Amino acid sequence: MAKQPMLKFVSVERETPEKRDADVRAHDFDEIYAEYAQAKAEEQASRCSQCGVPYCQSHCPLHNNIPDWLNLTATGRLEEAYAISQATNTFPEICGRICPQDRLCEGNCVIEQSGHGTVTIGAVEKYITDTAWEKGWVKPPAPAQEREESVGIIGAGPGGLAAADMLRRAGVQVTVYDRYDRAGGLLTYGIPGFKLEKDVVMRRVEQLEAGGVEFVLNCTVGDDISFDAIRGKHDAVLIATGVYKTRELTGPNAEAEGIVRAIDYLTCSNKVSFGDEVEEYLNGELNAKGKKVVVVGGGDTAMDCVRTAIRQGAESVKCLYRRDRKNMPGSQREVQNAEEEGVEFVWLSNPVGFTTGVIEPEGAGAGAGRVRQALVQRMRLGQPDATGRQSPEVIEGSDYAEEADIVIKALGFEPEDLPKLWNADGLEVTRWGTIRADFGTGRTSLDRVYAVGDIVRGASLVVWAIRDGRDCAAAILEDLAAPASVAAE
Ligand code: FAD
Ligand code: SF4
Ligand code: SF4
Repeated sequence: MAKQPMLKFVSVERETPEKRDADVRAHDFDEIYAEYAQAKAEEQASRCSQCGVPYCQSHCPLHNNIPDWLNLTATGRLEEAYAISQATNTFPEICGRICPQDRLCEGNCVIEQSGHGTVTIGAVEKYITDTAWEKGWVKPPAPAQEREESVGIIGAGPGGLAAADMLRRAGVQVTVYDRYDRAGGLLTYGIPGFKLEKDVVMRRVEQLEAGGVEFVLNCTVGDDISFDAIRGKHDAVLIATGVYKTRELTGPNAEAEGIVRAIDYLTCSNKVSFGDEVEEYLNGELNAKGKKVVVVGGGDTAMDCVRTAIRQGAESVKCLYRRDRKNMPGSQREVQNAEEEGVEFVWLSNPVGFTTGVIEPEGAGAGAGRVRQALVQRMRLGQPDATGRQSPEVIEGSDYAEEADIVIKALGFEPEDLPKLWNADGLEVTRWGTIRADFGTGRTSLDRVYAVGDIVRGASLVVWAIRDGRDCAAAILEDLAAPASVAAE
């Protein structure tokens, strides 16, 4: 009888890929996890119990066929594993690196529920597609037949790129417009290299280019070209612009010099990692070297900021969050990584203002209006609110001052007012300012205008943007095949 290759979760322990030592990794922007060796990937994949109703799959936003690609990996059939993995996910090696697996596939693995430690789904997914790249199995879109219709996509983040890939494979002419000088959206300029190395993103962009997708970069829709002009040029338009308006701090001196936006800070650092000369980095404005850094927020953006500051050589890095560790939105895995690298978390704390003054020595951004301290109130968790979440309450008389040479605002993002910026009155938005679009197709209130990703969901996840982009591409193909309807505006 053939040997059973799977169900090894009782005899084989869960093992994640090796993590580089904190002392070493805190000095560079390279990814912190190594790749599995082939034998280890096979061994770890073999822990899967091949559930008849796989909860991992139902909790993956892309419904990836996880049990099948784990089985194929365990039996050394990697090219087939890659084909199955790529069939439902445009960027499997990116999701394998940065999905919060503990909340999605792995968090719902039955092996985890039975106390044996989840199958390491994300690490195996990354291994499969990194191997596929190495072996040359990843190919650019090569449509069997060209079509005349063209689609304009505004925004080259994961939502826009996933749609571009599907549409191009179907032979549609695709142009992607982006205001940045490189494609990738937050994959390129938000998420730091220690989570997602930049060549992993760039090789995907190059594949799309090689497959005939046209990129128009350094082009801000609304400034360099109007939304109407884009609509006039294409048979359909997809909006995938993400959310970039920063939630602001309040209180005295909240706009002092040295209080900066997380997105500016991370974009600058990522540009420097590409080898660009960035003035704000060179003049110290967006550079944490030698400084006392205070980051405000408890989500993934805050985690990326604190760990970037450590790598830039900050004197100290503190993260202020108004709830406790258990109630923070960011991934626990990232908090642990940050702590290992030397970040201090000050839970249950909330800045209510700032003091300013001159900083010595010269060169650290001296100036009378520059931030010197964050004035912090201590909090405690009170009664649960309507959503069941405990609300933070102020502990009276607990205020103290936290020294700060630079304060990074990482409180989250909101959508820009696109109908106003683009003079597009008929483009309906929700009360949160996100575009009102049909989940599953991306159709908006305007005829042949679609929207996906964060601009529809609010700040979300890469895997959801990919899902939206793929679903929307299918809807666009369906609509392009139908006779044009009268514009709905
Ligand atoms: P984006 O990736 O934001 O791309 C939008 C693109 O549109 C950008 O390139 C922008 O330049 C362009 N654009 C905007 N306006 C215009 C205009 N007017 N004209 C032309 N172009 C325009 N998710 C995870 O799953 N895992 C993580 O670890 C993770 N970490 C994160 C860390 C940070 C710091 C941040 C900010 C987010 C993180 N996220 C993470 C969330 C994730 O990055 C987003 O959910 C995802 O990128 C959304 O994709 P998108 O395509 O909708 O938009
Ligand atoms: Fe898990 Fe994300 Fe991969 Fe789905 S895409 S299997 S959620 S890592
Ligand atoms: Fe395998 Fe876990 Fe998915 Fe079950 S839930 S199929 S054990 S990965």
